[in-house]
Amino acid sequence: MTRPRTVVIVGGGISGLATAFSLLERASTAGLSLRCTILEADSSWGGKIVTHRIGDIVTEAGPDSFLSQKPAGLELCTKLGIADQLINTNETVKKACVLSKGRMCDLPEGLLSFTPRQLKPFLSSGLLTWTGLARMGLEIAVPPGPSREDESLAGFLRRRFGSQAYERVLEPLMAGIYAGDAEQMSLRATFPRFFELEQQHGSVVRGMLEAKKTASTVLSGPRRRTMFVSLKNGLGDLVTALTQRLREQGVELQLGKRVDALRVRSHELGRWMYDLILQDGSALSAESVVLTTPAYVSADLLRPLTPIAGGVLDLIPYTSTATIAMTFPRAMVRGVEGFGFIIPRVEQRDLIAATWTSLKWPHRAPADQLLVRGYVGGVGREEILQLDDAALTAKVQTELAALCGISVEPTYTEVNRWWKAMPQYTLGHLDRLAQLDAAMSRYPGLVLTGAGYRGVGIPDCIRDGATAAERVVQDLSGGTGSGRRSV
Ligand SMILES: Cc1cc2nc3c(=O)[nH]c(=O)nc-3n(C[C@H](O)[C@H](O)[C@H](O)COP(=O)(O)OP(=O)(O)OC[C@H]3O[C@@H](n4cnc5c(N)ncnc54)[C@H](O)[C@@H]3O)c2cc1C
Repeated sequence: MTRPRTVVIVGGGISGLATAFSLLERASTAGLSLRCTILEADSSWGGKIVTHRIGDIVTEAGPDSFLSQKPAGLELCTKLGIADQLINTNETVKKACVLSKGRMCDLPEGLLSFTPRQLKPFLSSGLLTWTGLARMGLEIAVPPGPSREDESLAGFLRRRFGSQAYERVLEPLMAGIYAGDAEQMSLRATFPRFFELEQQHGSVVRGMLEAKKTASTVLSGPRRRTMFVSLKNGLGDLVTALTQRLREQGVELQLGKRVDALRVRSHELGRWMYDLILQDGSALSAESVVLTTPAYVSADLLRPLTPIAGGVLDLIPYTSTATIAMTFPRAMVRGVEGFGFIIPRVEQRDLIAATWTSLKWPHRAPADQLLVRGYVGGVGREEILQLDDAALTAKVQTELAALCGISVEPTYTEVNRWWKAMPQYTLGHLDRLAQLDAAMSRYPGLVLTGAGYRGVGIPDCIRDGATAAERVVQDLSGGTGSGRRSV
């Protein structure tokens, strides 16, 4: 019998777990016998995916849903046998608001598809002035920008849709996903589809209209999914299902194992061996190592091996945020409807968004409670995280009172801080990935994946984990180095 090949995955967030899952699938197809270990520094699995259950209340400290249009999340749930737990957002209250000059305005439904039919609600929402609206409508006539330059998200949106639409609607909707500053964000790295639509169709609106024609059949299927989906009892169930399956398949899952250093031990005749030195002083060797840690952690691990990769990874900045969950007696809160609201940067508020969680996902709190989740922090607004929990909660309460008239005391509060948690794909991000790729190509079997590179969303992490797994199998099977992508 051939000796199993050894792989260590560093980091047990969704990227690490999904990489392991995909690795087993691919190794089995390739007839490759594997011994796979996942090392996680923390005392629990899932990384940013953290679900808390407090009596009948279910809170999400990090992500609360994932995009259904990117198939990797749904596919993984299906493979794990938990697709029956998937839930749509509550379609009876399908609406969200945006704060505009201190006033809540309805966000026109389907806004991101920019189709003229859906521009109509703008007229009544009062979000944009007539001139702002007319300028937005002129997007179809704006010539495409240069295809070579890496344009900022802000520059692109202003150029195509006008300043007003950018500031009042598009900035909070799009930059908000990254808790980022649109002036610094790379359009191509964060919203590549917008870049492609402009280049291929000359206009985002025209491109969206074309895409809509072909997409309509998918949306009318029997298993129609809303744009965002979650799991009935929280996304933590995805982590539980994944770890269970991996254990059953013989993956060694080790918690409380922080990797402090990485070395190349030896390589002979194309066989590489990497040593991992752990914080507890122990060491582990493997022929392949997948780093799914945040870029700044991977930078420290790789610097002694390849200073170029270390230096490039250092240039991927991360921002800090916090989520604050609160419940209020439902009967004491009036006028709250829809999924919540977003707040443009120009409004200069402490809060960047809030979700009416128990309206969006009805079973997440008892019927007599309203579960709310507020978001603070992000690029340029991280100072607020210096406040202690009580002061942070008070800030969010003050915002909810001023903006939504919620003046009753919360019955439950929970603060979750996320330090250096959200990677920022700033201008030049894709060039940096290419440099990283070149630097890493000298080390077969050493692969980087995770939220820091090709998408922060859960489906992106799962998809990129599958690509990393493919690379590992190729490298272990003695695949050629040509066209190799390490990150
Ligand atoms: C507040 C918040 C809300 C979000 N909301 C959404 C959402 O609604 N939908 C969505 O799709 N995405 C959302 N995201 C983004 C998404 O959750 C993350 O991008 C994704 O979960 C990151 O997964 P990952 O495995 O790449 O990284 P992580 O989850 O950060 O996992 C990396 C793991 O590596 C471990 N580690 C670090 N250093 C070491 C070391 N030296 N040795 C061993 N282990 C180490 C860490 O402990 C961690 O568990 C949100 C993120 C945040 C912070």
